[in-house]
Amino acid sequence: MAAIQLTLLKYLGSWLATGGRRGRLSILIYHRVLSEPDPMRPGEVDAATFSWHIQLLARYFRVLPLTLALRLLRESNLPARAVCVTFDDGYADNLEVALPILQTLGVPATFFIATGYLDGGRMWNDTVIEALRCLPAGILDLSEQGLGSYRLDGWQERNDVAIRLIQLLKYLPFQQREERVRYLASLVATPLPDKLMLTAQQVRELQAAGMEIGAHTVNHPILARLDHPTARWEIATSKQYLEELLGQKVNLFAYPNGKLGQDYLPEHREMVQDLGFVAAVSTNWGGITLQTDPWQLPRFTPWDAQPTRFMARLLWNYRH
Ligand SMILES: [Zn+2]
Repeated sequence: MAAIQLTLLKYLGSWLATGGRRGRLSILIYHRVLSEPDPMRPGEVDAATFSWHIQLLARYFRVLPLTLALRLLRESNLPARAVCVTFDDGYADNLEVALPILQTLGVPATFFIATGYLDGGRMWNDTVIEALRCLPAGILDLSEQGLGSYRLDGWQERNDVAIRLIQLLKYLPFQQREERVRYLASLVATPLPDKLMLTAQQVRELQAAGMEIGAHTVNHPILARLDHPTARWEIATSKQYLEELLGQKVNLFAYPNGKLGQDYLPEHREMVQDLGFVAAVSTNWGGITLQTDPWQLPRFTPWDAQPTRFMARLLWNYRH
């Protein structure tokens, strides 16, 4: 690592990412941590990348559990360069790959679990990606499903088609999306992976390792596309399930997909507060201050492939 540049950024960080009465917090968001790079998932971090992210955070920032960070912010006691690490969805690699890296460096994190996929489930977007990985080379004709026709060959094409299909499917009504995804999966001759997500027992292991667990609905729907009773059921049921599983209150929530106006609406924020969550995270970008709505905390997706840029962009996030 470019140690001198990073140390200079650290001093700049004390000024940008202030503590105390004018405390500022950034929350990082991860999904998967792959054991090795995967050409079908170029956007996800692998173990080597995640490892230097966490080393950099442990060395130049103060990584705090989310609940503690929010309390310190309220009490005007947040340290400078305070940061939290979060994971969404509940992937098995969070335990198998990410947890050992976090533990080696003593870094806490919060894991938001979509409870309907525990114990062998697979999220629909993963079904799309895994189907595109396995389908034979040639023409994939989904025009009868209203999804177009594609040529599959190398990884780049397969990955492009997966991204395109996910875009087309994401905001369809739940049943329509399910039908189309099931059809796509039926074209694959081999069984698709069923160990992508955590088991309920593994969620307990994360808890036992001192990690925080938050709710992320049951089926990971776009809340904005649901009627109110169903949206409320999704939020409440994931909380209740995790509380029974873990034997403790679950006070944190993450909105699926997480963009205000597009994925969730002000009424969902009201539901989350009303159901007793003490804070909720979105995927809108930005830093957090005392003035930020605790039920709509923005988060930051790190993507820079180089440590100095990673750190500079993270520092910029505090002021964004
Ligand atoms: Zn999610």
